[in-house]
Amino acid sequence: MSSTTTQRRKGGAPKSVENFKIAVPLDDPPIKAEVMRRKFGTGAFDQHWLNTDCCGLFCAFFTYGLHVYGVYAVCLILIPPWMSTLDEDGVRSLTLMGHLHRLCFTLIAALAVYSHFKAMTTDPGTVPPDAMPLSEDPSKDDQNGSEMDALNQPKRGKRLCRRCSSFKPKRAHHCSVCRRCIVKMDHHCPWVNNCVGIGNHKYFLLFVFYTCLSCIYSFSLVIIRFYTCMGHHGHARSHHLTCLDRPTQLMNILGLLVEAILFGLFTSCMMCDQAGVVTTNMTHIDRLKGDAAANAVSGIVEVFGLKNKRETSEGTKFRLDWLSPFGQVCFPGPLHEEILGYRTPCRSVGGHPTAESEMVSTGTMVRSVQEMV
Ligand SMILES: [Zn+2]
Ligand SMILES: [Zn+2]
Repeated sequence: MSSTTTQRRKGGAPKSVENFKIAVPLDDPPIKAEVMRRKFGTGAFDQHWLNTDCCGLFCAFFTYGLHVYGVYAVCLILIPPWMSTLDEDGVRSLTLMGHLHRLCFTLIAALAVYSHFKAMTTDPGTVPPDAMPLSEDPSKDDQNGSEMDALNQPKRGKRLCRRCSSFKPKRAHHCSVCRRCIVKMDHHCPWVNNCVGIGNHKYFLLFVFYTCLSCIYSFSLVIIRFYTCMGHHGHARSHHLTCLDRPTQLMNILGLLVEAILFGLFTSCMMCDQAGVVTTNMTHIDRLKGDAAANAVSGIVEVFGLKNKRETSEGTKFRLDWLSPFGQVCFPGPLHEEILGYRTPCRSVGGHPTAESEMVSTGTMVRSVQEMV
């Protein structure tokens, strides 16, 4: 006799369909669904969001190295011989202005690095596995019929991505590097080793802004220093000041100048470009595909979020928290779903947000699914 048993009525065939039961193997262990949950990755169940692509990681650490070099060149080479005084014993002490410049430059560089870190390690807006269309009729969510997977759509009743098989809201696009669908994907940036999407657009903008600011700052300091050295060299020497401590440090200053010009121009162009993206609320992919911006809220609100639920969706007045990479971008519950283009069963009951999800952060959209498994 085999290891299975059939639970049929003894003495013949079952009298009705209700009495018939399917044969179940008793000795086999129960079937378990297992998912791979890495510490770092871009999978739906990975613990921390991070692209482990070698090229992207190299670019990210190269960016950190550039900022560290900038702080080193400005604070330890450029400023000390310039903004300091020598006492009678030959001991040099930094002036108040020297301390202020050091503090300001280091603060800007630190904000740039932290914004980069947040842009790199924040989920850019991936669609979780349990995402569902907002309306019962999927055709209402699928305005863009050209992208619809004709094979999958009728079977599952919702538009699926052909490459990652997840539900694909109309504003989501698949990224081949992240191997996920990203809502409001602008582009995959190798410098931040991540996609730029609805979840981390603010951090990306802040990284570009603070990097541009630090380039302008260091460029201005080098030019002013060059002018004072060339124009008032004799006068400066009489006050125990020298242009540089050692002539070899000139190479460091030239390196700083090249870095400031190169990355200052690059980030300035990027900021102009991103200003267009934010004000028109059309990403680069939207422009390439010719999709018109037909969103409920402005691009500024989508990037920076709303401070509280009492604020209207037109709250586009400048707030100081726009410049902070420490807070999370939040939207009231219903607006959150409308912006993302999908809903998840654990977030809303019957299509209405629960009390806990009235203000929802975009950074936690996938974590809720992870906690279920
Ligand atoms: Zn996809
Ligand atoms: Zn990507």
